[in-house]
Amino acid sequence: MSNNLQLSRPWATNVGALLLILMSCAPNVGCGRSDARSGDRPQIPVQPTAPVVQESLDDIRAHMAKLVLVEENRHRIASQQEFDAWRLKALLKLDEIRQREGVTGFKQTSVEKTGSQNGVVDPASHQIAWRAFTCWNPACLGKGKGGGPVVFAKQWENAEIGADGKLAWRTLKEDEQTSAITCPTCGLPDFVQYYDVPEVEIRRQKLAQELVKSREIRAAAEAAGQLVPAGVRTPTEIMKEQTELPKLFLVPEASK
Ligand SMILES: [Zn+2]
Repeated sequence: MSNNLQLSRPWATNVGALLLILMSCAPNVGCGRSDARSGDRPQIPVQPTAPVVQESLDDIRAHMAKLVLVEENRHRIASQQEFDAWRLKALLKLDEIRQREGVTGFKQTSVEKTGSQNGVVDPASHQIAWRAFTCWNPACLGKGKGGGPVVFAKQWENAEIGADGKLAWRTLKEDEQTSAITCPTCGLPDFVQYYDVPEVEIRRQKLAQELVKSREIRAAAEAAGQLVPAGVRTPTEIMKEQTELPKLFLVPEASK
């Protein structure tokens, strides 16, 4: 990745609390299924495929808000695992609305698994499609179109379409260093993350767990002088699948 992305992802590695949700989710959600590998261009599902979340968005927001601590104008999460569990509930709830209402200000493109993490040339419109972001600040949940997620795209100024029709990144000069991406609704960078459809997010969480497990098994086998059991994927294999997870890109409607 040739541009400078600064994301605060304090919850990226703590996924243990999600186990219960992952084990109980419906079979058509992609649990244990390698969605990212089926077909060359996975599409965003147009039919609801997520399990029903019983809590209202207000309930979810209230629970998440309890887990957010404000200290010296910075935000910290009290219990990362709990926050992650509620964040997945929020994602499922918000995705119901996203599928119904769409995304404000952007045309949704297909989900890509190739190209840069932050942009790709949309083959249909030949415009740059930008990676989708959202904000997990409880105060921002449901502040998007029709009560949906606040989904936005960061349009990097150092990206352009090259002569070969592909996205080209210009190296930033010293005084051009980009700052953290801030949410257009609350103005905070603290809760900004890539926005993914639930199937991808659930798969990402599963892969993170598998990676931890794989390393533990490997360390234990090495300590005992034994071979790693068959069927345990290597960290490299798992991380490869992580990088190949489909990503959501958006074309700004105004530029059409
Ligand atoms: Zn926000």
